[in-house]
Amino acid sequence: MAAPTVATHRTQEQLDRLTAPAVTGKFHYCQLFSEPGAGSHLAGLTCRAELDGDLWHVNGQKVWTSGGQYADMGMLIARTNPEAPKHQGITWFAIEMIQPGIEVRPLKEMTGHAMFNEVFLTDAVVPDANRIGDVNNGWAATNTTLLHERSGMGARGGGGAPVGRMARAGSVVGDLDKRAGDFAPPRRSVTADKAKADKEPRRPSSPAQSHIELARQFGKLDDPVVRQGIVQAHILGTISRLTTERHKAVRSQGGDIPGVANFSKLLMADIVRLNRDLGMQILGARGMLHDYDDANRGEMAKLPGGPLAVAATSQALGAQALPIYGGTDQIQKNIVGERTLGLPKEPGDLSKLPFNELPKNG
Ligand SMILES: Cc1cc2nc3c(=O)[nH]c(=O)nc-3n(C[C@H](O)[C@H](O)[C@H](O)COP(=O)(O)OP(=O)(O)OC[C@H]3O[C@@H](n4cnc5c(N)ncnc54)[C@H](O)[C@@H]3O)c2cc1C
Repeated sequence: MAAPTVATHRTQEQLDRLTAPAVTGKFHYCQLFSEPGAGSHLAGLTCRAELDGDLWHVNGQKVWTSGGQYADMGMLIARTNPEAPKHQGITWFAIEMIQPGIEVRPLKEMTGHAMFNEVFLTDAVVPDANRIGDVNNGWAATNTTLLHERSGMGARGGGGAPVGRMARAGSVVGDLDKRAGDFAPPRRSVTADKAKADKEPRRPSSPAQSHIELARQFGKLDDPVVRQGIVQAHILGTISRLTTERHKAVRSQGGDIPGVANFSKLLMADIVRLNRDLGMQILGARGMLHDYDDANRGEMAKLPGGPLAVAATSQALGAQALPIYGGTDQIQKNIVGERTLGLPKEPGDLSKLPFNELPKNG
């Protein structure tokens, strides 16, 4: 998200200094967009940045900052002109996270993890050289970040390998010095695997593969409701993959599909909800067992259903996240309606009013 934003709105010097380390994984960027009073209504943000010489001084609070506790850099949007209409007084910065003016406080979610944080900025500083795009024109850069966030989520659902099986970017977690092999699963005997694979009939893989395996283990493959859910998961997963491939092909020809980032994200939200319900339907009462402490997950994996059941319960608890982050389902639908289908805007458009004259809490 940071690299394409900097790459689109940068100077050459910024491209080398701020994008290259994000691409190599040397920098981990977090996204300092949402605030307690500005989520869906992001352009209503109140975090202030004021220029003094070559340094911007930043004061305000951000919230729901995923990975803020591991970040070297933050994609910060802050208000730089409160007298301009709300979209025209915002500037985008790449700010160093490890500095005295920034305090990061983790927030624990119902999954048991603390993926996101509150971030307090108290006279935090960012050099003008780290401003991406023109002063007060940060809304353009913000839309670039959001576009890449949504299309990325639509393509892969924001998922990733389990902790310990995936190298994480940045200097804070300490993965930079490790070798790729350190993240590979423990080696098993190749000959034993091959003999087993030769004996088993080859099945084509499906986006619903883990649910198929789980249903087999729980003796529910013949349950018509479960079968229906599996087929739906297969169809929606396949449509999602084909949409991503179609979009890539169109982009490679220099074209675009209007609204694709938004409706791909909406589709992915449907997929995670469907997978949540399907997993719980297969697991039955076993689905109520979840260990909130990572250290004990190994014990849970010894229960019926093994690691697949552990993954299904974690997925069910985490399924509420994707339909919210990167812009909620309702906001995606508003954007598709207004920008893609050309429907009239919501009544009461305040976009021309200076930010400091907007009704507050209205
Ligand atoms: C797991 C997770 C990770 C996140 N990570 C980050 C991060 O790294 N960085 C970051 O900046 N933010 C992050 N967020 C924040 C996320 O972007 C916001 O939660 C989201 O934009 C919604 O804002 P809100 O929570 O303030 O809800 P609100 O904006 O208060 O919305 C509340 C409800 O009202 C509905 N609503 C609001 N406005 C409208 C409207 N105009 N029309 C119809 N319905 C409307 C919404 O759809 C929602 O149902 C994360 C959120 C989650 C859940």
